[in-house]
Amino acid sequence: MSNAEGKVFIGGAWVASTSGKTMEVLNPATEEVIATVPACTAEDADAAVEAASKALPEWLDTTPGERAAALLALAQVMEDNAEELAQIESRNVGKPLSYARDEIPVCVDNLRFFAGAARILEGKSAGEYMRGYTSMIRREPLGVVAGIAPWNYPLMMAVWKLGPALAAGNTQVLKPSEQTPLSLLRFAELAQDVLPAGVLNVITGDGVPVGERLVTHPDVRLVSLTGDVSTGKLIARNASDTLKRVHLELGGKAPVVVFDDADPVAVAEGIKIAGFWNSGQDCTAASRVIAGPKIYDRLIEELIPAVSSLHVGDPAEGDAIEMGPVITKSQQERVFGFLERAKGATILTGGDSPSARGFFVTPTVVTDVAQTDEIVQREVFGPVVTVQRFADDAEAIRWANDVNYGLSASVWTRDVGRALSAARALQFGTVWINDHIPLISEMPHGGFKQSGYGKDMSAYSLEDYTQIKHVMAKLS
Ligand code: NAD
Repeated sequence: MSNAEGKVFIGGAWVASTSGKTMEVLNPATEEVIATVPACTAEDADAAVEAASKALPEWLDTTPGERAAALLALAQVMEDNAEELAQIESRNVGKPLSYARDEIPVCVDNLRFFAGAARILEGKSAGEYMRGYTSMIRREPLGVVAGIAPWNYPLMMAVWKLGPALAAGNTQVLKPSEQTPLSLLRFAELAQDVLPAGVLNVITGDGVPVGERLVTHPDVRLVSLTGDVSTGKLIARNASDTLKRVHLELGGKAPVVVFDDADPVAVAEGIKIAGFWNSGQDCTAASRVIAGPKIYDRLIEELIPAVSSLHVGDPAEGDAIEMGPVITKSQQERVFGFLERAKGATILTGGDSPSARGFFVTPTVVTDVAQTDEIVQREVFGPVVTVQRFADDAEAIRWANDVNYGLSASVWTRDVGRALSAARALQFGTVWINDHIPLISEMPHGGFKQSGYGKDMSAYSLEDYTQIKHVMAKLS
């Protein structure tokens, strides 16, 4: 048994929750309990913030080069233990092992990107803007920051917060989702000697009280949440008393705008991947297909066999499995609830569960939906894709933009001018042309509208994790 089992990582040590309470973690494919972790309390959150505060002065003294070295070392630990971390992620989230394996190099790359980015942080040049004075800009860390992660990509979402936070010189408390704490806990254990004690702390537990305490704690300068829109709104309200900075990566309802001149085979293949990756539990999931009047029938003809061919099952069955379960019983019921309430809609494939054991939903395609329908307007966060037929380009863009979300969108056409016009008109933080879903460390990821504010990845995220100071010196 490892020292870390049943414990959380505070101030460089593995400790039990002060309450002594624990919570069970399930494998969603089998419904079996695979671990118990501490159900932390507000006092535990306070202890983690205190440890991060204590570690701050020493971490503030590090040079960018030293922080880069630490991030490179973290990346190396992750790379060296990639298979174990992928296995944990696969079992805890229910995602196919090959997909979990693909995520680890992406996390490693992200850490390496921020190791590099730590060394090129800059302000504007110094200068004499008033006669007799020199002004300069310092870009400084915020202090103690908190990160609150969701369950769909547990390790990756934690890394998206950890990389920029530590690169910029902050210390951090991370709280993984109560459903999926295992990969981050194990990574913290593997990497426990890389960072000075207290620079990175990992605590587990429910949104309330643990996340809530991080949000209201007066010594926490920023809270970064990846989660649901409703959680984001609550956090923004709760953070207002201490006026702390809030960074929100929230839900999405990505449109896939398919013009008549697109290649229907490529589009169907793209939706098969991007609509059902991670069982559709992806904030950028290709969930809303908006197809042209001429291509619509051909697309359906290609899409239905492609989607129904997806091999659904327990990832432990082997590499043939392309889609696992959704995360919990309540998420499964939520997905079926959307389908039940979609009166008048046609389910062309899917809509049921292939197994009584595990929280499975078969890959589902729904047509005959109106723009105002709940299933078109709200994020399902499951393997469900709707398809609508538009009359002209203007209607396509209007429908695509007509949701509260604004995280990502894709446009499919062979016409460059049409693609770029659509990319300009679409009100989303990422727009893909002739693909849907790839992300890279160098480019920002973040929402418009109610998908939140703040950017993950890229140099832009470092702006969120730093603050600008003006130093003005009187010349003699
Ligand atoms: P969630 O909002 O239920 O939970 C996210 C985290 O917030 C969890 O760790 C939870 O414990 C915590 N939390 C809950 N209530 C809280 C409170 N009052 N105060 C502080 N913390 C609290 O989200 P989820 O169900 O875990 O994840 C799914 C959601 O995440 C989806 O809406 C999805 O679109 C979104 N998501 C967005 C992105 C993105 O980059 N924009 C990426 C992945 C997931």
